[in-house]
Amino acid sequence: MPLKIVRNDITKMAVDAIVNAANESLLGGGGVDGAIHRAAGAGLLAECRTLGGCKTGEAKLTGGYGLPARYVIHTVGPVYVDGRHGERALLESCYRKSLAIALEKGLESVAFPLISSGAYGYPKEQALRVATRVIGDFLLENDMTVYIVIFDKSVLSPKAKPYSDIKKYIDGNLVGVSPLRRLSLPALSKRCFEDAMGAAAPTELTEDGMEGLGDRLKCIDESFSQMLLRKIDEKGMTDAGCYKKANIDRKLFSKIRSDIHYRPSKPTAIAFAIALELSLDETEELLRKAGFALSHSNKFDIIIEYFITKGCYNIYEINEALFAFDQSLLGA
Ligand code: ADP
Repeated sequence: MPLKIVRNDITKMAVDAIVNAANESLLGGGGVDGAIHRAAGAGLLAECRTLGGCKTGEAKLTGGYGLPARYVIHTVGPVYVDGRHGERALLESCYRKSLAIALEKGLESVAFPLISSGAYGYPKEQALRVATRVIGDFLLENDMTVYIVIFDKSVLSPKAKPYSDIKKYIDGNLVGVSPLRRLSLPALSKRCFEDAMGAAAPTELTEDGMEGLGDRLKCIDESFSQMLLRKIDEKGMTDAGCYKKANIDRKLFSKIRSDIHYRPSKPTAIAFAIALELSLDETEELLRKAGFALSHSNKFDIIIEYFITKGCYNIYEINEALFAFDQSLLGA
């Protein structure tokens, strides 16, 4: 069910279906369309001839022929004029209709190129945002693995305009420039006490204050999995709502749920912190349960910190930035 962003040539993707950014004739063209027809061979063109074309914003299915993918879903993106000619709605429709075909066919994995972002002129970063939003919404309701395949090196580059703020933040925080804001030990002990007792910690711990602490301290020892499930309940979320928002596969979530000692990878643990919309302190607390911490010695952690402190918990937006800076992605 997760959304994965990858850099690749879409004709090499071994998925159930790849999506072709075609033109209305469906008879082949340049760019990704040309590459797909070349790799698939003449059988694809022959089948396309039987389809009678395709309207902008619509999608049609064919076999994959010589491609590693079993099927090709052909969709026709809008030509970008100035953004005021219904381009966005048409582009959204391309993704929706293609996903609807994949769903109807019972496909488990689909790979999209950045539709309209080449010869049709849709600004690439905006085209990507449309893609992640529509696919992200779809994945909240449906189980499928969806790839966005980026071909052009200039897309999602750290030099791209949307990332200038993040770049500044990284430059200003990478080790040696500004030490990471850390929880001091007394603050940590105070929070542990409050977690255990469910009450404000006294300034000084007296013997009376310690009463009942033994039992309740047990919750400090809760595992990552236990803390995760507790937080899901506290936030009033469902399990599915949480793992989908975290861009995490259902099977992985089941493993975490059934094994209280499960040790997730750091990107997985952070994906859950993002889905739960935890503060930076809470994120660090959840990470500690899995044996990790955030530091200023690497870009990955600083990018995560950037988004959490901004209150931006959109996992796809965070993943786009991580991808641009060549870092591991969250969830998938
Ligand atoms: P459109 O006419 O819809 O703009 P294009 O084929 O010109 O279609 O470009 C759509 C996107 O596909 C562009 O971002 C381009 O970089 C990308 N692209 C081109 N060739 C490939 C390929 N082999 N695999 C994946 N993406 C590709």
